[in-house]
Amino acid sequence: MSVHGIAILGATGSIGASSLDVIARHPQRFRVVALTANGHAEGLAELCQRFVPEIAVVADPTRLHELEAALRARKLPTRALAGAAALCEAAVWHGVDSVIAAIVGAAGLAPTLAAARAGKRLLLANKEAVVCAGPLLLEAVAAGGGALLPVDSEHSAIHQCLSASGAKGGARRLILTASGGPFRQREDFGGITPAQAVAHPNWVMGRKISVDSATLMNKGLEVIEASWLFCFGADAIDVVVHPQSVIHSMVEFADGSVLAQLGTPDMRTPIAYALGHPQRIDSGSPTLDLMQLAALTFEPPDASRFPCLRLAYDALRAGGGASIVLNAANEVAVAAFLDSALPFARIAAVVEASLSALAFAAPRSLDDVLAIDAAARRHAAAACARSSP
Ligand code: NDP
Repeated sequence: MSVHGIAILGATGSIGASSLDVIARHPQRFRVVALTANGHAEGLAELCQRFVPEIAVVADPTRLHELEAALRARKLPTRALAGAAALCEAAVWHGVDSVIAAIVGAAGLAPTLAAARAGKRLLLANKEAVVCAGPLLLEAVAAGGGALLPVDSEHSAIHQCLSASGAKGGARRLILTASGGPFRQREDFGGITPAQAVAHPNWVMGRKISVDSATLMNKGLEVIEASWLFCFGADAIDVVVHPQSVIHSMVEFADGSVLAQLGTPDMRTPIAYALGHPQRIDSGSPTLDLMQLAALTFEPPDASRFPCLRLAYDALRAGGGASIVLNAANEVAVAAFLDSALPFARIAAVVEASLSALAFAAPRSLDDVLAIDAAARRHAAAACARSSP
């Protein structure tokens, strides 16, 4: 078995940590070649000490000296690079076979596209990249001749159900499960703090996706992601709240069969699925103990308390640049909320105001995507300023 070279974009994050945990279980199979972070130079150097990649990249150029010093102090041969272009360099580095795209937000789009164009096997966690540029990303994967495997647990579940169906075609509905987040049963959204919003009941994740889970925007982004990855329209994708997070998603077929994928809520399972595909490899996830489960329950999402889900469906149906506007406005609003500069209950309002005010044709290039993203960020920042507590 030849050793497979891996780049992790966003190595210092939650998906980065889970990916490295899986990789470390298979030293004969995987070799870490490139690791990137945004500004956490010391954390990145610690990972370099453990995995000794050929290159390490900080996106923030002001942290390059810190990274170089930290690598020198550890006497590591790893080369330090910085900046946006260096992220793309890491994604296409010669010894890299698979790229785990785990940068949070639209910031991950350019290196993810670069990896796809270069024909790397793309293990995609960075859902914002596909929300902003689904068709461009799929074209790039096709042109590069590589493959795309979803890491998001719901999309991994759908990929597994479609692969396991044993028959060609016939899938008629995707059913994405949602935990409902920390405020599933809360009526009044006033006074919610960032600490409360990031305290997810089932999953340990980065701060931005945790807030997205609390507003259900995460599920909305996943609906758009599923639409592009599996070629299903908005009307054929349903969301069901399943608080136990044991069923990760389902596919309904023409004959009425519904296939589901189950497991403990641990991102190492979908990461191991993507890393090992088409083989199954050990992930380190705990075994699912069915006897410990009191019940598996399901309920419809509450559209009035969680308007972000509807906004995402609206953006998907509107087409053009609407999904980019949705994503950019949400990123700005979530960052403002995490800075205590916007009330939790106003996140959806900022996104809705941006979607109502801005309309763009479908982007034809990365530059088009970035221009729409920038315009939406300006609009959302102004809306946040007007809504500040
Ligand atoms: P984290 O916030 O934990 O980690 C984000 C990573 O991206 C860090 O390495 C961070 O570096 C880096 N980063 C942040 N901003 C930039 C930037 N501007 N340029 C370059 N690098 C940057 O996020 P998660 O790991 O939780 O999520 C990553 C992606 O995976 C998201 O798109 C999320 O939606 C998706 N995802 C996550 C899941 C989870 O369980 N966490 C589940 C499914 C999908 P630094 O540490 O230096 O800031």
